Amino acid sequence: MIHAPTPATLVPPQRRRFTVAGVVQGVGFRPFVYRVASELGLSGFVGNDSASVFIEVQGTPTAVGEFGDRLLREAPPLAVISDMSWTELPAHHLQDNDFRIVSSRDEGNAPTPIPPDIAVCADCEAELFDPADRRYRHPFVTCTNCGPRFTIIRGLPYDRPKTTMADFGMCDRCSAEYHDPGDRRFHAQPIACPDCGPKLWFSGGDVRIDEVDAAFAAAQHALADGSIVGIKGIGGYHLACAPDNHRAVSALRQRKARHSKPFAVLVRDLEVARRYAEVSAADAAVLSSPARPVVLLRRRSDAPAAAAEVAPGNPLIGLMLPYSPIHHLLLAQVPGSQTAAPQAIVLTSANRSDEPICYTEDDAAKRMPKLADVVLDHNRPIHVPCDDSVVRVVSEGGEVRELPIRRSRGYVPLPVDLGRYGPPMLAVGGELKNTFCLSDGRRAYCSAHIGDMGTVATLKAFTHSVRQLCGMRGQPTRLAADLHPRYVTRNWAEHNAGDRPLDLIQHHHAHVVSLLAEHEMLGSPIIGVAFDGTGYGCDETVWGGEILRLGGDSHRFTRVGHLAEVPMAGGDVAVRNPWRMALATLWHARVPWTAEMAPVQAATAAELLLLRTQFASGRGCVPTSSMGRLFDAVASLLGVRQHIDYEGQAAIELEVLAASASDEAATIPLRMNVGGNGIMDPAPMVAAIVTALRDGADSAGLALAFHYAVAMAVSEVVCQVAGNTRIVGLTGGVFQNVLLLRTCRQLLEGAGFTVLTHRIVPPNDGGLALGQAAISTLTALERCDQDDAQSGRITGCA
Ligand SMILES: [Zn+2]
Ligand SMILES: [Zn+2]
Ligand SMILES: [Zn+2]
Repeated sequence: MIHAPTPATLVPPQRRRFTVAGVVQGVGFRPFVYRVASELGLSGFVGNDSASVFIEVQGTPTAVGEFGDRLLREAPPLAVISDMSWTELPAHHLQDNDFRIVSSRDEGNAPTPIPPDIAVCADCEAELFDPADRRYRHPFVTCTNCGPRFTIIRGLPYDRPKTTMADFGMCDRCSAEYHDPGDRRFHAQPIACPDCGPKLWFSGGDVRIDEVDAAFAAAQHALADGSIVGIKGIGGYHLACAPDNHRAVSALRQRKARHSKPFAVLVRDLEVARRYAEVSAADAAVLSSPARPVVLLRRRSDAPAAAAEVAPGNPLIGLMLPYSPIHHLLLAQVPGSQTAAPQAIVLTSANRSDEPICYTEDDAAKRMPKLADVVLDHNRPIHVPCDDSVVRVVSEGGEVRELPIRRSRGYVPLPVDLGRYGPPMLAVGGELKNTFCLSDGRRAYCSAHIGDMGTVATLKAFTHSVRQLCGMRGQPTRLAADLHPRYVTRNWAEHNAGDRPLDLIQHHHAHVVSLLAEHEMLGSPIIGVAFDGTGYGCDETVWGGEILRLGGDSHRFTRVGHLAEVPMAGGDVAVRNPWRMALATLWHARVPWTAEMAPVQAATAAELLLLRTQFASGRGCVPTSSMGRLFDAVASLLGVRQHIDYEGQAAIELEVLAASASDEAATIPLRMNVGGNGIMDPAPMVAAIVTALRDGADSAGLALAFHYAVAMAVSEVVCQVAGNTRIVGLTGGVFQNVLLLRTCRQLLEGAGFTVLTHRIVPPNDGGLALGQAAISTLTALERCDQDDAQSGRITGCA
């Protein structure tokens, strides 16, 4: 039979140049392009420049068209394509049948996003435990689909010489894999094997063990023995100990100067996780995701006894699954070793209290001896420190969302698209849980978790991180900081701005705009409900229970509602002692203090006398509309907690108490008073709680009724002030409370609103910098229109 000539031989070839932007470097994108082009019989090439992946293909028009479709449809799992464009080119006459991967070009364009660090993939994990594989038990096994990225990249474009792997010359076998487009390790920059890769060792006292199996056996033995083991990981050093060893856990608390704040536990697998906590299918999916965050889960009542000491008094427990080959090896039986491998270990950042995580060799030499008894160390340098991320999982109506609590390893530095081009700028964030945000004008890169800015060490780490990121991304021409005159970050910005404009941004305004920015909805009118502990208000009082209206210009707001102010006596002392806020709230509600009340019992007679005088005279008191403080006050009244050891402790316990209430208990009616001025007054609710307690009401039921009362008040104020606005945002640290978040959402959606909540940056102050960056960008753009882009100022307050 004679075939007719195929159309391909009649139609002239077509040549097209594609430019693909987004997270497309370090994620196996070029091998993927190579494979698709080869399958379609196309010639041409693919390469990286600092801003994108560029591709030229030549072949039949059908194949070229199909190629473009498949790029979008079949991109590798870790790739995020933000933009793809193409132009037609004249076809080359000399048809070569080859498709090639060409070397990277540094063109000085806006650099491409750097991928985050990704947990060991299933293929690499299988190799790690396959005795026949040449990477059997190799602590640095990695491929194009997994492994460290952000923490080892020193510069762009992302190529091995610009990573901390530069000093490890590839052996012939690794090099062959690296250069073979058909191999899973094609252009995997951190590629390594036992012959050429980094080395791991165990050290303790005078002992140093360089052999891998012996080193792991020694570490396991030390853990079993109750020692604290330092472990160098992906984004820094961790401290580990046996979770069921009381002595070890309390020694760890002492060395870290961390009294009762919970520790995370690394568990071998989901089966072990289920022994410690209630793990839903949604939780399991997030635990196993490539980002491998710490997931806060409901602790099981029959969890191993140890779990209570790891998170004392805390009904939640943070669990995580192994994400580096070192974790996998540490939790697996070492062949021939007498010591049984642990199934779970406490794993916490190596630092004291809220200081930055220890990550360099020099720093480790100074700090680790005071923190760890022995260390499992290695010589692959960490360039950028990165703590573990923490999330909660919210599932409602069949939808599962991650609610970020700390956004760091596995997520950073994926950018948020601000959707418009402004000046490159630096937003320095807040004071607690600090992160900063650097934008190249359009894409906003949020930093990893830096910490609480109260120490010199944290400030140094902040300065270092800012310089590092600016070095890679370019210098900002504008700065933004919180309005609070005593924030270290604001002072830093004022000292470092030079002649660059500096915008001072109100705290809750930044919270609301961070929510708009992460939803790519800047410029959409919104009613923002911003509830947190503390934020400096435009009237110089302490805000924190705010309802703000933003119109089409997101860089302006009006305060349309707030929690009624109560007197806060003694600043920080009031924050650490919820009973003081309870007494303040009772005072505000004109409910007399009586001896049977939990907050009264927590105070001495002298303290009661002093507070009474202060509240009566107003001396030493600052009015506060903080919702976080109201949660503290109610937690105290219900006898949940009188003193806190870490931020949000009382509120977390109140939430969990409420979640344990039976449905009948929830019928106790509590209501806040909502005035026509948008002010939510807790007075009648507080009086009702006191009466209910006297009548012997169940505290869990009251805790639940309190959550409903707050949600009802929110819904009432929002309906009152919304006008034509149909979008409501829930933001601020108080909305880490999943019960409150869900109840508010239900009521507001029931009233016909679209509700935005956080999915990318945390609702707490860790998300503040993104909002600051967006507001400052919009302010700058407006000033440009007005030909007055020079000076920053307090922006937004109305
Ligand atoms: Zn892999
Ligand atoms: Zn090798
Ligand atoms: Zn805040």
